[in-house]
Amino acid sequence: MKIFAANWKMYKSPQETREFFAQLLLPAQSQLVLVFPPALCVESAIESTKGTQIKIGVQNISSKSEGALTGENSASVAMSMGCEYALVGHSERRSLFAESDSVLNQKVKFAQDIGMRCVFCIGETLEQRKSGQTFEVLKNQLQLGLKDVKSEKLIIAYEPVWAIGTGLTATPQQAQETQSQVVTWLNENGFSGAPVLYGGSVKPDNAKELIQQKSISGFLIGGASLNPESFAQICQS
Ligand code: PEP
Repeated sequence: MKIFAANWKMYKSPQETREFFAQLLLPAQSQLVLVFPPALCVESAIESTKGTQIKIGVQNISSKSEGALTGENSASVAMSMGCEYALVGHSERRSLFAESDSVLNQKVKFAQDIGMRCVFCIGETLEQRKSGQTFEVLKNQLQLGLKDVKSEKLIIAYEPVWAIGTGLTATPQQAQETQSQVVTWLNENGFSGAPVLYGGSVKPDNAKELIQQKSISGFLIGGASLNPESFAQICQS
């Protein structure tokens, strides 16, 4: 089953969230559709998607259930509201919010302990790709981020940092080559069967070719997921 995940980042209000779902027409195929709205829109997203195939997740979770952690999102509370998924390790969290591999590892473990499913993101910068370090970087992120993590319910998203929000996309060959190395690592390290999504400027016009690649199990989509028509078109790919 292919997975199509929308990362809305810090876009949309609760009203805009309701309008998006009222306009979204998804193909009647079996696929897993996930939407990660901003935390302030989770409630309206859950209400708007009741009884549909769409699952709602949170873009960031704390590794603690509660505490003196101003501004953080409790995964336990998100779960009790109906969020079954959490995005962990997005490159914006890694670079703009200085989330280290060990912090991300604690988040994944906490989410798993309470039964939440994680989409764990990895990716290299352009400099790292140019200097031939891509797989070393990804392997390191996987090794540290997934230390003592269970394989059940885990989803990986490979997102080259240079392709996020830039309009640059990895070619289908580049994505396939890198993702097949990730799949091999997962198989050799007790995570066989974990789906690996591709993310980085996925649009309706490049989705078809990318989704045909053997090691791509679906997409994590930023910009193009904000519009119900383009998101639906990508889900149809
Ligand atoms: C993302 O934010 O995860 C992402 C892939 O963004 P975009 O599709 O806009 O590159």
